[in-house]
Amino acid sequence: MDSLQVMGVRGLPLIKKGDDLAALITNLVPVQDQDILCIASTIYSKSKGYTKSLAEIIPSDRANRLAGLNGEDPRFVQAVLDASSDIIMEHPFILSEVASGHIGVRAGVDQSNIEDGMVIFLPQDPMRAAWEIREEIREITGKDVGIIITDTCGRSFRRGQTGNAIGWSGLLAIRDYRGDTDLFGHVLKITEEAVVDEIAGIANFVMGESNNGVPAVIVRNCQRWAGHDDLFFGAHEDITRKLLKKEMNQ
Ligand code: GDP
Ligand code: MN
Ligand code: MN
Repeated sequence: MDSLQVMGVRGLPLIKKGDDLAALITNLVPVQDQDILCIASTIYSKSKGYTKSLAEIIPSDRANRLAGLNGEDPRFVQAVLDASSDIIMEHPFILSEVASGHIGVRAGVDQSNIEDGMVIFLPQDPMRAAWEIREEIREITGKDVGIIITDTCGRSFRRGQTGNAIGWSGLLAIRDYRGDTDLFGHVLKITEEAVVDEIAGIANFVMGESNNGVPAVIVRNCQRWAGHDDLFFGAHEDITRKLLKKEMNQ
């Protein structure tokens, strides 16, 4: 597997509620068994109608307070609060967990690549979403592809956003190197590689962020790995999360 192919899917329309992503994508590109199809969460959410008009949102007291604190539209802040299952940081921006276990800046709520005055929420059950698209592609083409639903995310310690996996199916999130020996025979004790995020990263690079119009990317010739799906830290083991919550509650 020394050579991977990474192909952006060009030619998709502006996605609207009810669109069949599996059909649209497989009409444009013939997929092969073992391909990994990365899909921007934004088009999945648009296809399912996980969007809202700001005009419909009435901000709560907390939304008004945080909007003042962070210099944001209170209705947008309310959308972020609504999308959050646990707020971890309030300022200078909201950092929160969503129901699926992913933690993101502003709960991953977007105002880009949609009409003015609208917000896009992350998929509500992205693991199921990935599985469903995989099944639909299997029905249409007979091919078994892996699916990664991606989102562009900020990160700690470094400037710059990268693509992250939000949901996946047909591949394992983590390649587990623990127990392997290195070139010198040392047994690896710690290394678990978050392969889904690495693949989401290169897919996100090919997608672009603004008006490129490439919300799906196929990664071909990527052999599978052994590991597990336990990508998200539990609240008890996540040191950063514990510290941020402590700080917020002071
Ligand atoms: P996110 O990372 O999931 O939040 O999605 P982005 O807003 O960054 O968009 C990723 C890529 O998909 C960019 O190339 C956008 O131009 C493109 N994109 C977003 N929405 C659509 C759409 O409805 N149709 C098409 N064809 N491209 C889209
Ligand atoms: Mn996004
Ligand atoms: Mn993006």
